[in-house]
Amino acid sequence: MPRKLSPETEEAVRAQIAYFRDLGIFDFYRRDCASSELLHADVPEPITSGEGSAALPAEPPEMPLMPKAPLLPIVDEPKKKIAPENKAAALAEVRKDIGPCQRCDLAKARRTIVFGDGDPNARLMFVGEGPGADEDAQGLPFVGRAGQLLNNMIAAMGLRRDQVYIANIVKCRPPQNRVPEPAEAHTCVPFLYRQIDVIGPEVVVALGSTAATYLLGAKSPLSALRGRIHQVRGAKLIVTYHPAFLLRDPRQKKEAWADLQIAMAELGLQKQAKSD
Ligand code: URA
Repeated sequence: MPRKLSPETEEAVRAQIAYFRDLGIFDFYRRDCASSELLHADVPEPITSGEGSAALPAEPPEMPLMPKAPLLPIVDEPKKKIAPENKAAALAEVRKDIGPCQRCDLAKARRTIVFGDGDPNARLMFVGEGPGADEDAQGLPFVGRAGQLLNNMIAAMGLRRDQVYIANIVKCRPPQNRVPEPAEAHTCVPFLYRQIDVIGPEVVVALGSTAATYLLGAKSPLSALRGRIHQVRGAKLIVTYHPAFLLRDPRQKKEAWADLQIAMAELGLQKQAKSD
């Protein structure tokens, strides 16, 4: 029988997993724990030699980076550019096609479909993972604490929030803010591609691992993706940390700022004061 964790422990484990995920570590293995006593046993000293060391693997097991299922559904590449004056209507068309969506399990618990927000003619687009509680309540992306930090990041780039476009990989809040399942992301991401195709941004910034994974179609550690320019649907794609991760580990803000400066250089934006 699996042991039920206390709400505090569950929350702590969830935060720890989110932290590792933001660092680009995706796969976790649970050690078997035959008796509940083991959960309370003192942590033994690490075995460095002698008895018992033979049982330890010399190296940690290799972690598979690619999931079994393909990450991306097949979606046509953008065909033609949309005139600036028609982009708002084209986005409204995408929203209409989503409708009162029941395509995946996320529909069961969500309150609002968080479509996306911003300038339909934006040169810069940010993509996060999925709505949280605040976004689900308000129907807008990045309006909670992480959103405030994103607003600061945008301001430090010399832009206003209404000059960029912000969306997520999934448009409905995953229960307890868990990572969207591949099936959920696969179901939702074609609508995000259509939004990108309509807007035609020059630069897309992927905020965190989930955004990077589904925009690139492959899972890699963030460390391997940051610091260079990728492509997504005709736009330059830059990968950086998720603002929620930066709230947990503010030391990484410097690194995120370096990523944003790559985006700024591509957009010909002047260097501004540092983001905080
Ligand atoms: N985190 C996200 O990834 N997206 C949001 O909209 C809010 C928080």
